[in-house]
Amino acid sequence: MTHLYQRLPLRHKQLLIAVSVVTGFLFLLPSDNAKASKSTDSASTLEVAKRYTVDVPTTNIAPTAGSSLAPMSRLPEAPSHVTPQAIPHRSTEVLANSTTKVEPSGTALKQMDSLHWKKVKVKSGDNLALIFNRAGFSAKTLHKITSLGKATSALRKIMPGQVIHFGANSEQELVKLKYQQDIINTLEITKVDDKFTVEKVTKDLETRERIASATINSNFWNAAVDAGLEASVIMNLANIFGWDIDFGLDIRQGDHFSLVYETKYLDGVEVKTGKILAAEFINQGRSYQAIRHTDGEYYSATGRSMRKAFLRAPVNFKYISSNFNPRRLHPVTGRVKAHNGIDYAAKTGTPVVAAGSGTVIASAYNKYNGNYVFIKHGEKYVTKYLHLSKKFVRKGAKVKQGQRIGNVGATGRVTGAHLHYEFLVNGSHRNPRTVKLPKSQSIDRDEKSAFLAIASNRMEQLSANQRVMLATNNE
Ligand SMILES: [Zn+2]
Repeated sequence: MTHLYQRLPLRHKQLLIAVSVVTGFLFLLPSDNAKASKSTDSASTLEVAKRYTVDVPTTNIAPTAGSSLAPMSRLPEAPSHVTPQAIPHRSTEVLANSTTKVEPSGTALKQMDSLHWKKVKVKSGDNLALIFNRAGFSAKTLHKITSLGKATSALRKIMPGQVIHFGANSEQELVKLKYQQDIINTLEITKVDDKFTVEKVTKDLETRERIASATINSNFWNAAVDAGLEASVIMNLANIFGWDIDFGLDIRQGDHFSLVYETKYLDGVEVKTGKILAAEFINQGRSYQAIRHTDGEYYSATGRSMRKAFLRAPVNFKYISSNFNPRRLHPVTGRVKAHNGIDYAAKTGTPVVAAGSGTVIASAYNKYNGNYVFIKHGEKYVTKYLHLSKKFVRKGAKVKQGQRIGNVGATGRVTGAHLHYEFLVNGSHRNPRTVKLPKSQSIDRDEKSAFLAIASNRMEQLSANQRVMLATNNE
């Protein structure tokens, strides 16, 4: 059985760990999470309405047919080998065929052929001076290289376990240095006529498309993981639909999604996940469709921007306790609809973001609301956020949609930590889930017909896949 965790690329692992720690599914991990604590900062910057590209190239084994995935609740703790060593370095192959790659002149080429190569492994606590010393080269040589400036800055980011290759001529002078930054990029420094030049050699990745789909039985996250999606793709999918669907409270058993997304291959091996190209989400019987346009934005199949004036939820779904409780099939129980608002049960400290851009008209404390923030959006709309443990905005401040304005807390008259969220239109309370909102922007007129053609092809691609899936399931 393949553990999901092991299949995730390094950066995804870090992200996943970071997310785990801060989001309160800490308790799902069997043991010690201390290793991940330094990632807290990155996790605290995860925001609603923001797409995350976690695209540092690392290795990932493509899912194999029939492989069973470990559900989130059974993720093993971060293995101690989550370090750069986990990235397989292909430096020997590179060396084997690259001595003829950068050849400024015939003499230089001759030089390369007769180089004597030395491999130095980066140790913990190492620096370039120590490494050059171990390789037998002077501080002066190092200085010549570092004074090449920004182009060599990658050398300052060396990590334990990585390898630097030094090629010396018969006079023991450094002629070539190779540092494989990751599986795609290699920094090559070459001495020509007593001067060093630097070049970054990047391997070409092949882009393939993959279709995934799932029906939600327990919760969105598990369904997405079972469909073979990586954490970053899951987050991006939720963010694409974050203006239409409240992933914390509105997901129901039987909801369905499908998407087509890019994967990147290097020499036939999948190395990273790319962008989502198109997706459909059926939530409580309603279909939402999104197609990526050439401007990098997502539009509905009719050409309206997926971005709207208000996010459906001011708390990211991954923090909502009901969403990650597999025993609670219907997260509807997570919603307590009383007193004109929606309550999001989440841990103290969970980020609360502005549902829309606007101006803070109140940021204060009273014994009922605890710490609270009110935001006015244009003339008609006001959103209210109550019981915060911390407020990050002052009265009069301008805020952007998705900007963190406070933390969930248990201040005021409450029984436990939660965000009480209210949505008012012309002074009356409305349900943010059902209220009619201003239409989003339409795609540029001169791009519309081209977009619509692509959109209909993409949707056809997804529904064709759907028919195949249904046929397979009914066999
Ligand atoms: Zn409430």
